[in-house]
Amino acid sequence: MTSENGSSILAFDVGGTNTRMAVFSSHLSIVEADSVATRDLAINGTPQTSIVAHLARWASERPDLHISGVSIGAAYNARQNVVIASAPLLGATAPDRWDVEGALTSRWPQSAWSVLNDLTAAGLGVLHRTSERTRDVLVITLSSGVAARLIRRNGPAVAVDDRWGIAGDVGHLPARFSLNGSSFALPCDCGGVGHLASYISGRGFERVLAQFDSGTTSLESFVGRLNLGDVIAERLLRASIAPLFEFLEIAVTLLPDVDIALIGGFHAALSDHIIRILQELSEKSGPYLLANDDDWLTRRLIPVEPTGNELLGAALYASRSELREELHRW
Ligand SMILES: [Zn+2]
Repeated sequence: MTSENGSSILAFDVGGTNTRMAVFSSHLSIVEADSVATRDLAINGTPQTSIVAHLARWASERPDLHISGVSIGAAYNARQNVVIASAPLLGATAPDRWDVEGALTSRWPQSAWSVLNDLTAAGLGVLHRTSERTRDVLVITLSSGVAARLIRRNGPAVAVDDRWGIAGDVGHLPARFSLNGSSFALPCDCGGVGHLASYISGRGFERVLAQFDSGTTSLESFVGRLNLGDVIAERLLRASIAPLFEFLEIAVTLLPDVDIALIGGFHAALSDHIIRILQELSEKSGPYLLANDDDWLTRRLIPVEPTGNELLGAALYASRSELREELHRW
């Protein structure tokens, strides 16, 4: 697959932790890449004007590139093409509506800008990277937050709410968490309590460690303890994965014919342990009747590079007009 008119593409991924840039060749290989901590962007002005200024500057420094795709880590109304909630990215002063595409076009009109939600972008990237497969994919990201997106291969199409234009914010569904026989409800970034993202997102798991594990100073040291077979570390991770496992049981029950791709930075940091514990849990229980198969879950989990999917998806979205026209048409 190449870009529509054979030209290179500029792609951005604006995330809660980092803002990344990549130049893709017409054959979709990365020829240049850069990254900056998102919080370092907001030196002058509001976070949103700083992000727009930074992306426009990156684009203006490459004036021969005229196609720019932007993956944005915020709730995005795909019907109206605006960000509608973005507190983790922009802070408490975030506006109710933010027309990123319009702001970028005003700032650097020499490029054709296309903006989409980060998990939708990641889904397009996963679809491209697994193009040899035939089944639709439920893409689940475990990163700063947790979200899921069902991507249909024949389309591709992403169903969104007819009014709000969003889908798959599963991180804010209620979840059960118990440790050593007692139940706990931890806070979530959204202001709620006891959500899936309270436990199995990067930020949620930091709170789990802060509350229950005084021996851990960083995720790296926690992984080191897991690798050494530390019993307390293993118990904590199992407790945090249990709500994800329950969600996967529901997902497979409702969507029996899809592949499942786990992605995201938090997943990348703990991937081997997460897959191992999911495997062990799925050998003990599962959806009605399916639980008779030891591999009911793992045969659906497809291996995919956990990072970089957002940039690739943004490049695909920006460079292929049929994606922009068809993606949310259901
Ligand atoms: Zn929440």
